[in-house]
Amino acid sequence: MRSKVVVGNWKLNGSLAGNDALVRALLREIPRNGAAACAVCVPYPYLAQARELLQGSAIAWGAQDCSRHDSGAYTGEVSAAMIAEFAARYAIVGHSERRTLFGDTDAIVVAKFAAARRAGLTPIFCVGETLEEREAGRTEAVLARQVDALLQSGGAGGLEGAVVAYEPVWAIGTGRTASREQAEEAHAFIRGRVAAKVQPNIAARLPILYGGSVKAANAADLFAMPDVDGGLVGGASLVAEEFVAIWRAAGAAVKG
Ligand code: PEP
Repeated sequence: MRSKVVVGNWKLNGSLAGNDALVRALLREIPRNGAAACAVCVPYPYLAQARELLQGSAIAWGAQDCSRHDSGAYTGEVSAAMIAEFAARYAIVGHSERRTLFGDTDAIVVAKFAAARRAGLTPIFCVGETLEEREAGRTEAVLARQVDALLQSGGAGGLEGAVVAYEPVWAIGTGRTASREQAEEAHAFIRGRVAAKVQPNIAARLPILYGGSVKAANAADLFAMPDVDGGLVGGASLVAEEFVAIWRAAGAAVKG
């Protein structure tokens, strides 16, 4: 059975004092022997603070993006190796906000995934359709295009040890959540696509997180679905009680 994982995406939020209070509140409630795994993906300048506060705890940390380049004349970029120097475990790649606001194409996302891998980070590879695409009946075609871009580049095993996040763009930061049936349908499609294109056992082990307005009130419902292996949580990860409640819902789903 796959374990459940809950990852917070702080986006462009935080301050040294605010992060300190938030993380200490999480540490009081999330023990080392919890049933679900937990992590926070923080803005780059706070990676050092995350390491200082979280090392030795049950909460891993990571970044929200990384450069596709390893080094060189790329002003403003942050390499995966730099992120890894702060003992980070994760780098989110292909978040819809990067795809839509910052021009990350499938090819760029795939290159970032590979860069994260080279640095020993676990990429959290985000995919998802827009509302327009869903309403046009193109959800599966969009997911197939995004997943295939990665599988074709990485060959068999490209997703081994990585994490996928299904994040319907229409549900991110909108308060609109996919129903558990919609989430399960998309997750099962992604898993089936990976199974068909690479080894089925890699697909069976692959954690597929749901993201899009996950809150304490809907987490248990979503996490009960067989192909939903936890959540990538934006807004609610900034409120300790909400995030802890979501993490507890993931743990409860593990225990069944
Ligand atoms: C996200 O940032 O990945 C996300 C899912 O945001 P929210 O939970 O706020 O919709």
